[in-house]
Amino acid sequence: MEFISVSEHCHYFKSAVNIGYVFKDGKGMLIDSGLEKSTAKKVLKQLIKRELPVHYLIVTHAHADHYGGAAYIKKEAHVEVFAPPLEAAIMENPVLEPIYLWNGAFPMKALRNKFLEGQPVKVDSLLDCGEQAIGPFQITAIHLPGHSYSQCGILVEEIFYAADSYFEVEVLRKHKVPFIVDANAAITSLEKVLRLSCSGFVPGHGEFEKDPTYTIRANIECHEHVKTFIQNLIESVPSGVSMDTIQRKILEHFDLKAREVGQWLLYRTSFTAYLSSLVEDGKVKLTVKDNVLWVISTNSLDLL
Ligand SMILES: [Zn+2]
Repeated sequence: MEFISVSEHCHYFKSAVNIGYVFKDGKGMLIDSGLEKSTAKKVLKQLIKRELPVHYLIVTHAHADHYGGAAYIKKEAHVEVFAPPLEAAIMENPVLEPIYLWNGAFPMKALRNKFLEGQPVKVDSLLDCGEQAIGPFQITAIHLPGHSYSQCGILVEEIFYAADSYFEVEVLRKHKVPFIVDANAAITSLEKVLRLSCSGFVPGHGEFEKDPTYTIRANIECHEHVKTFIQNLIESVPSGVSMDTIQRKILEHFDLKAREVGQWLLYRTSFTAYLSSLVEDGKVKLTVKDNVLWVISTNSLDLL
């Protein structure tokens, strides 16, 4: 886990999930905590080695790879934990993620793993959007929903910690369909990040960039591409397409293989998010036919 400085006050631990660290006037603040105790342990060990303190921890969103280590950091370093409201509810009750993935039913044991359900952590203060002071840090929390319900990116000392609002191009190429809960919100959030002016950007996954315009545009194109593919697929069959068929065809088209139930459910959440956005755009409608959930193009409905 490499410790990288991007400005006088701003740094990050480069890892599968980047963990931000800001130091000013004798106070230290972490942004996200990594997946689990072992990751958090490495972070605290490095900070001790460098004689750097930690007083605050902001969690950008309630995905286990970003908050799973928070309980350990809170226990060991007595940090004050901040998180956006809806994300905080999940961090305090992490079973909510396997619950929402499993259609709201209480999840099977197989879904209750560390990737879908992190260690619970008590959030001390809800993080509202906008400018605010946390100790000596003047931060702006920017609401970036889409990848999760209430994710926030953190602008501090001219550096933007972007959470998972965008992924580096390599990650996009690998995953092809990023995890989202709202496609239109994800695109709007990306456009918001494009308009930000600051001296550098640290994404949740990937490299620090001074100007991530190309990367962010690639993310917008990716969402629009998947959304258009789904719309065309539904429009190509005037009688409609069942939800299960849509999921199978998307996985085939993007050459994706869901290796186990959890991954299939994560894909389904993303596809459902694209569908909701197409419904909100007035492009498709959902209907139940012969006890099966079907999606039909609104163009076809006009012809019926
Ligand atoms: Zn995430």
